[in-house]
Amino acid sequence: MQNAKPKPMDNDLHDLFVDQLRDILWAENHLVKALPKMAQAAHSAPLRKAFSDHLVETENHVVRLKDIFASLGLSARAKKCEAMEGLLKEAEELQEEYAGTAALDAALITAAQKVEHYEIATYGTLRAFARCMDHSKAVELLTLTLDEEAHADEALTKIAESKVNVAAAA
Ligand code: ZN
Ligand code: FE
Ligand code: FE
Repeated sequence: MQNAKPKPMDNDLHDLFVDQLRDILWAENHLVKALPKMAQAAHSAPLRKAFSDHLVETENHVVRLKDIFASLGLSARAKKCEAMEGLLKEAEELQEEYAGTAALDAALITAAQKVEHYEIATYGTLRAFARCMDHSKAVELLTLTLDEEAHADEALTKIAESKVNVAAAA
């Protein structure tokens, strides 16, 4: 039976894995809508570029998640992510509160890095689950996305520390 098609997984960790895939699919779908607004609001050109570059990556994160569902023989169904809804609500609040101030870009980066860290936590956990269950396609795709989330976070740190924080403090 070595080469037989893997039978569909049926255990509690797999349930949790699929549940969290659905959660992050909802989150990524909503980020695709939020990032253009954040790019539009940003003053600094590098920050606008960081947001629009990450929008392209985020659209691809959705595609990868759909590929992961397909690799598991499952339909790509999203489940509301309460955390991402809250993070994006806070992002909008910060954006309104600091509109027209020198700290607007710093506020946008604050919100965006909270989002990135939520994603990094989720994808890191998902990859650990996938490794544990030998879902090799999922491991491969989750690693690609995890690396892009980490890179996006680092890019925001660089923009904050090299430019935006100093401007906000002036
Ligand atoms: Zn993402
Ligand atoms: Fe969530
Ligand atoms: Fe992201």
